[in-house]
Formats: sequence, C-alpha cells, structure tokens
Amino acid sequence: MIYHPVLIVGGGLAGLRAAIAVHDAGLDCAVISRVHPVRSHSVAAQGGINAALGNAEGARDDTWEKHAYDTIKGSDFLADQDAVERMTREAPARVYEMEHWGCPFSRLADGRIAQRPFGGAGYPRTCYAADKTGHALLHTMWEQCVKRGIRTYQEFLVLSLTVREGRALGLIALNILTGEIVPLAADRILFATGGAGRIFGRSTNALINTGSGLAIAYQAEVPLKDMEFIQFHPTALFGTNILMTEGCRGEGGYLVNAEGNRFMEKYASKAMELAPRDIVARSIQTEINEGRGFGKGGAGGGYIHLDLRHLGAKKIKERLPGIRDICLNFAGIDPIDTPIPVQPGQHYTMGGIDTDVTGAAPVEGLYAAGECACVSVHGANRLGGNSLLDTMVFGKLAGDAMAESLAGNANRTEPAPEARTLLEEDLRKTRDRAHRLMAGDGTEDPSAIRDRLKDVMIEKVGIFRDRGTLTEALAEVRELKERVAHIKVRSQARVFNLDLVTNVELEGMLEVAEVIALGALQREESRGSHYRLDFTSRNDADWLKHTLAHRTPEGPQLDYSPVAITHYQPVERKY
Ligand SMILES: Cc1cc2nc3c(=O)[nH]c(=O)nc-3n(C[C@H](O)[C@H](O)[C@H](O)COP(=O)(O)OP(=O)(O)OC[C@H]3O[C@@H](n4cnc5c(N)ncnc54)[C@H](O)[C@@H]3O)c2cc1C
Repeated sequence: MIYHPVLIVGGGLAGLRAAIAVHDAGLDCAVISRVHPVRSHSVAAQGGINAALGNAEGARDDTWEKHAYDTIKGSDFLADQDAVERMTREAPARVYEMEHWGCPFSRLADGRIAQRPFGGAGYPRTCYAADKTGHALLHTMWEQCVKRGIRTYQEFLVLSLTVREGRALGLIALNILTGEIVPLAADRILFATGGAGRIFGRSTNALINTGSGLAIAYQAEVPLKDMEFIQFHPTALFGTNILMTEGCRGEGGYLVNAEGNRFMEKYASKAMELAPRDIVARSIQTEINEGRGFGKGGAGGGYIHLDLRHLGAKKIKERLPGIRDICLNFAGIDPIDTPIPVQPGQHYTMGGIDTDVTGAAPVEGLYAAGECACVSVHGANRLGGNSLLDTMVFGKLAGDAMAESLAGNANRTEPAPEARTLLEEDLRKTRDRAHRLMAGDGTEDPSAIRDRLKDVMIEKVGIFRDRGTLTEALAEVRELKERVAHIKVRSQARVFNLDLVTNVELEGMLEVAEVIALGALQREESRGSHYRLDFTSRNDADWLKHTLAHRTPEGPQLDYSPVAITHYQPVERKY
C-alpha cells in the first residue's frame, strides 16, 4: 500500500508550497494531482499577488495593517480578522521568497518589483508578471519541488477520504493512466484541491475545478463553511467566459455602457472601475438588465465594453500581452483599437473546508489550504490579488503545522495495521461503486444532468438572488441528485477513461451545489457577493456569522459560528 507520513492532494500553488514546507522540515511527503501540477488552475492567474511592499509611486506609506483593513472591508466584515492579519503580515516574505526562487516579476526602472492598483485597495499593492502572474509563480514553485525531488502522483484522481473516529487515515484514488483504483495511507493529509467554479455555467475556471475536494471532505463529514459566497468576476470575455484580468482596470481601463457612459460613477463614485468585484459585477449586471448593455440583455446575454484604447499600444503590449492575445485569438478583435465585450462570470469560491489559521480542519490529521479552504480571509467577497497570496501563506502554514505535529514521530515507513484494514474496506466499496457506474443498466445521461446543474446555478444562484429562485434551485438540484443514481458511464476504456472521471464527480458536484443553494436561501441578508433582492441590506445583528454545513442523510444541516473581530468594527462599505 502506498504510504507517506504526509499526503498533499493538489499540485497548485497551495499544495506545492505546503509540500516544500514539509520537505524542508525533513519529512517525507508526496503530492497527488489529477493533472500535471503546472496545469493546475493557479497557472491561469493573470493580474497579480498582493503584498504591502510600498514600491509603487505614491505607495511608500503602505503597511500590512492597511492591507488587512482593505481586505476586511472588502470581505464585508465576514473575514476572520486574526487570519487576515496573519496573511497580510506574511505577504512580503512570501513574495520576496518567490523573487529569490527566481520568479520573473515585472519590475520598476530601479529594479524593484512593480505593483499595480487593484480593486478595493488603497494603494498600488499588486505585484505582477505582466498578465501571466500565475504562470510565473506556479512554474517557479514547481521548479523548487523538482529541485527537492518531491514525489508526485500525477493523473491520480482522489475519490474519497477515509475517516474513522474523527481521524483521517488515507485516501482512495483512481490512477487515470491505468484505470486502477488504489489506497494511499498517511498520518497527515492536506487538501489543496482548488475551487468549485465548474458547478456554475459561465465560469472563468479550468474544467478540472469541479470542487471535488470539497465534495470528498463533505462526504467524509467534514463541515463546509460559507459556501453561499461565490465570486462573480466583473469582466469575462463575452461568449467565451475567458477572464479579462482586473489588471486591465488596474492599468486604467474603463467600463462603458451602450450609451457611452462610464457608469461606475453612479455606483462607486470614488473608486470607479476599481471598486471591489462584488460591487462592479452587480453594477455591470444592472446596466445590462436595465437595457443599457449591448447585445440582447437579460440573464443569458448582454455585455458592456471594457475599453483599453486610451492606454495606448505600448502599455497594452507591455503590461497586458496575454489579454491582447486572448482577444485576438478568441474574439478576433485587437484591444488597441477596439473595446472588449465583457460580462460577469463565476470566478472564485470564497467558502470551503472549515479550517483554523494553521489549516487544521475539525477532523484530526486533516488540513486544507488555498481556494478549497475557508480560513476565512475573504469573507463575503475576496479582493483581487489576495487569492494567490492566500495559497502561499496558508500553504506554508499548513505544511509547517503538519510537520510540527509529526515531529519526533515520523519514522514510520508503512501505515498502522488498523489503518490498512480500514482503507482496504473503503477500497472495496469504491471499486464496487466504479463497477456499478461502468456496468450498471442506468439510463440517465450524465452530461445532460451536469449541463442542467450549471444552468440552474448561474441562473438561480447567481449575482442576484431571492427566495423564489433559490427555492427553485434547491428543488432542482435535489431532483438532479435523484437522477444521478441512474447514470451510466458510456466508455468502457480502462486507460484514461475521462468519461468515468467526469461521472464519478457528478454526485459530489450536486452535493456541493445543494450546500451553496441552501446556505444562500437561509442567509436572509445581502453581504458581499451574496445579494438578496428580498433582503437588500447587510444585517449584522442576525447574520454577522459563518455558515457551517454538515452532511446528513437528509441533506445539509446548517449551523453558524462567530466571526473573529480583532480591531475593526463593521461599518458601512463605501467606495
Ligand atoms: C482565470 C483565473 C485568473 C485568476 N487570477 C488571479 C490573480 O491574478 N490573482 C489572484 O490572487 N488570484 C487569481 N485567481 C484565483 C487563484 O488563481 C486561485 O484561487 C488559486 O490559484 C488556487 O490555487 P490552489 O492551489 O488552491 O488550487 P489550484 O491551483 O486550482 O489547484 C488545485 C489542484 O488540486 C488538484 N485536484 C483537485 N481535485 C483533485 C482530486 N480529486 N484528486 C487529485 N487532485 C485533485 C488539481 O489537479 C490541482 O493540482 C484566478 C483564478 C482564475 C480562474
């Protein structure tokens, strides 16, 4: 049986940073990833990573405390303030570490790391590598793992987590290359599995971002926190949903409606295009819904313009080359002389596996970090540039915590006999399930169920929500859950059976969707990304609290936990 003292599920920035921490503490660990690590969604990050370095013109007096306050205000005061302070205090160290490891950041004339303005931030604080920051960071991090000889299991899809008596013992995974289902045992397990964007239609996320880590944890009775908070990015390329980074606006781009107006003046007169994402996304959708967009409008269509023309060819080619390439290749337009058609799209999962600041989940031996975790530093609305930061700060903290908790107790080379027996038990169950999916006489078409799920989520659990649409969404998701029991995998291939892969995930996607819809229905207020047309204001008296979803046979059971407030009392958000 495969055994490592520490197993890390996820080869994105959070998982790899954790692996480096564990390795550097002298412990053996391995990374499991469903794709080659550099194909993780982290690679697609465009705009940058926040740290109060104070490098940019006019930003000399920026501090980590100001970064913390901007983050907390951006979160609509739902973030845990102690966690935010930890993140913003450690931000410069993580960025400089990447610089020293060779990350090719864009630079100022004097050689220091360049920083651009981003939404909801008081200073230009976002460090970047043109508009391909995730690519630069992930490749640098991967090089560090290769240098250390960290073991990776690539093209392995984790299917379940074995927990007994409140303790995580191991994982069951499908080796996609061979079709084998295998057990993997460990004393500490980290989930760094990324977001759940692909549960929604119109998502900017990679196809692999199905939220499978969230589903697996939840199915093992680990609570999910604040799942109703889903970020909709203001600017996805119309018709393709490819992200047009906030960096476009950071560099000075305008948002313009069909009447030729920079409409953000109405919604955030000071911050304009650089208000936080929840506010800009709602403003754009309002313009479209009220008939001031281009195209046909309504829920399915309509767009506004992201106008970069006044930035000039030189700046666009230097700072936003990737955006220009995407526009040329996918929309046939050149942003140097044509405005970009954009509409909001699903972008980020603020909620996730409930953890503390060290990444520890409420199950012994289990940790989570990065987008799949909810520490919580993003609360009800994440600021752009804070997620890359989150992955590295909390990836490292989780790696350190796992290593420390094993110190002096890590010379085992194989699993304890009880763990082996229990994993073998789960292995048999999982093999039976896969066999049923392949050989069963199901009649339901899984792709039809998945497509319906995405439509329901984007149409009824989207930017604007109310009791009616949320109730309908919940009922539809539950109906889809019944249908999923009757699906059948079409391809009988053993090697690289992607049909099997997408099908085994479907049930979990529906469970996560159910948690999102129920959390949104119960939360009768508007806060950050969660906007209720029937409860349009924030209600701190009743709702300044985190949602926790526990799995029961009857569906999710919700309870609530307090928000950590250190220095900053909630006030009305104005931009
Ligand atoms: C287009 C785009 C642009 C973005 N730009 C920015 C930006 O400029 N700044 C910023 O701060 N944030 C940005 N974000 C957000 C940020 O990139 C992500 O939140 C962050 O990179 C997530 O990193 P992660 O390590 O948590 O997960 P990911 O990078 O998503 O990696 C998840 C890993 O988990 C593995 N995995 C998942 N499930 C399983 C399973 N069941 N079995 C085995 N392996 C599994 C995958 O193979 C993968 O290796 C952007 C996001 C997108 C989509």
